[in-house]
Amino acid sequence: LYRDHPHLSKLLVVTTISGGGILAFSDAGQSQSGYSAAHSDAPKKKVVVLGTGWAATSFLKNLKDPSYKVQVISPRNYFAFTPLLPSLTNGTVEARSIVEPIRNIFRKKKYEAEYEEAECYKIDVQNRKVHCRSTQQTSLGGSEEFEVDYDYLVIAMGARSNTFNTPGVVEHAHFLKEVEDAQRIRRSVIDCFERASLPSVSEEEKTRILHFVVVGGGPAGVEFAGELHDFVTEDVKRIYPHLQKYVKITLIEATDHILNMFDKRITKFAEEKFLRDGIELKTGSMVVKLTDKGISTKEMSTGQIVDIPFGMVVWSTGIGTRPVIMEFMKEIGQTNRRVLATDEWLRVEGLESVYALGDCATINQRKVVEDIAAIFSKADKNNSGTLKIGDFKEVMKDVFDRYPQLEIYLKKKQLKTFDQLLKTAEGNEEINIEKFKAALSEVDTQMKNLPATAQVAAQQGAYLADCFNRMEQCEKYPEGPLRFRGIGRHRFHPFRYRHLGQFAPLGGEQTAAQLPGDWVSIGQSTQWLWYSVYASKLVSWRTRFLVVSDWTRRYIFGRDSSRI
Ligand code: FAD
Repeated sequence: LYRDHPHLSKLLVVTTISGGGILAFSDAGQSQSGYSAAHSDAPKKKVVVLGTGWAATSFLKNLKDPSYKVQVISPRNYFAFTPLLPSLTNGTVEARSIVEPIRNIFRKKKYEAEYEEAECYKIDVQNRKVHCRSTQQTSLGGSEEFEVDYDYLVIAMGARSNTFNTPGVVEHAHFLKEVEDAQRIRRSVIDCFERASLPSVSEEEKTRILHFVVVGGGPAGVEFAGELHDFVTEDVKRIYPHLQKYVKITLIEATDHILNMFDKRITKFAEEKFLRDGIELKTGSMVVKLTDKGISTKEMSTGQIVDIPFGMVVWSTGIGTRPVIMEFMKEIGQTNRRVLATDEWLRVEGLESVYALGDCATINQRKVVEDIAAIFSKADKNNSGTLKIGDFKEVMKDVFDRYPQLEIYLKKKQLKTFDQLLKTAEGNEEINIEKFKAALSEVDTQMKNLPATAQVAAQQGAYLADCFNRMEQCEKYPEGPLRFRGIGRHRFHPFRYRHLGQFAPLGGEQTAAQLPGDWVSIGQSTQWLWYSVYASKLVSWRTRFLVVSDWTRRYIFGRDSSRI
């Protein structure tokens, strides 16, 4: 406790009675978080970080400069390794193995830091304040409210589950977003089996209770269905052999296929595997209502409404914006957007010292394209409307340097209009700027936002920490590289996302992976790759050790089905 709450040390007086004498000590002089005394007099910029998820934790892990005072505010005092949440729902891993106390993350860092368990309910940029509410109840029953000032604000509050306002979802479905959700699912699955085991329950009721429905054919929904199937085939067979014949798993997806964001080969493999495993795939089917016993779906091809009885539903249809972010967006005039728009340096558009990263934000591509058009107009010094091919290539180099995402996008898509334009340019030895801008608008409509993944969030956190580490040095050269002056100049290189691939675990020790260069790998060997990548990505040696021992325990003794 003393280690994790050094700021309370001033108040801590421990009294022991030893050998008839009284020994009292209070260690008020201890410095916090390893913060060096050499910096204690220097004025410190205060960085307020909202959230303890992927983006915030990566920022805190990578921040090194001791000249900041960091205040972390989040309703949860730990970081959770979300890719292993589906494994938590059936007891393959335990909750404590995939979480790391947030104070452990910054305890050994050189900067001064503290954590408050509270949620931010309002961001006031005019007065540079965030309004927070404690998640703990006071003795009077309410929750304590307080304000926190900032010099820099890092918004990394993630997102919430999206219900698309479908009636009954909040009341009757389970979400799979937080550790508590996964624990609730685990208890609920075991509840279903225990209820179905009671002698008074009819055959028909057993069939209903043991019908597990997963809504959403994205990676999380598919992985959960695979994990549940593993539990049924490996553990239910052993623990509830009399119930196995009643168990059914159905996966409902509104579009025609599951795992749409993956290569077609992966989608096909996953669909065929699920069919072999007896998991029913209801694609082209949209959920319109949920009650405590039944789910109503609308078949997209016929418009027919079908009622399906169930014992438990897990809702995993993607993410939506948190109310506090929506309020903030209204206040800063970003009402027509789904998530907070930032520039390529992750600054919230129009706000100098407010940064947003992870699932709650996205880089505004429209602005990127407008800026590129402006760079071209500026390069056309004589207002001739054309650029020589040599000059064009020079400008393009600058553009790609400043907007790396555009280069990645163009390489991946080999955009037709761009190719045509470049061919014309090569033929004529000069390029028409207006035509080029038209091609850019085409890019604008096609360029997609970055995916809402842990990979993006973690890279953004590390990037922002690196900017903060170099802030002081870079302030000496506020103009940035010469070629960007006048057009959204900034002292740092813009954020560049490096896609390292994506996994889709399918259960039964089978995993599919789409690696950079659209390289696809499927099967048991990919499962081993998944084990090693995820073990290496865990944030500490403690969690790494715990997760690997959970995997070993499951392998030797099976999963634990006690309802605790
Ligand atoms: P989060 O990690 O969600 O963190 C948000 C933080 O903000 C939390 O600490 C939260 O408590 C805090 N917060 C919330 N409200 C407030 C408030 N009002 N004030 C202050 N703090 C607040 N991605 C991958 O790349 N690979 C995977 O394999 C993968 N698997 C996944 C499996 C599941 C089941 C799920 C749900 C997600 C998975 N993801 C995966 C996606 C990944 O988890 C998210 O993209 C990532 O968590 C986003 O990081 P973040 O920091 O933006 O948000």
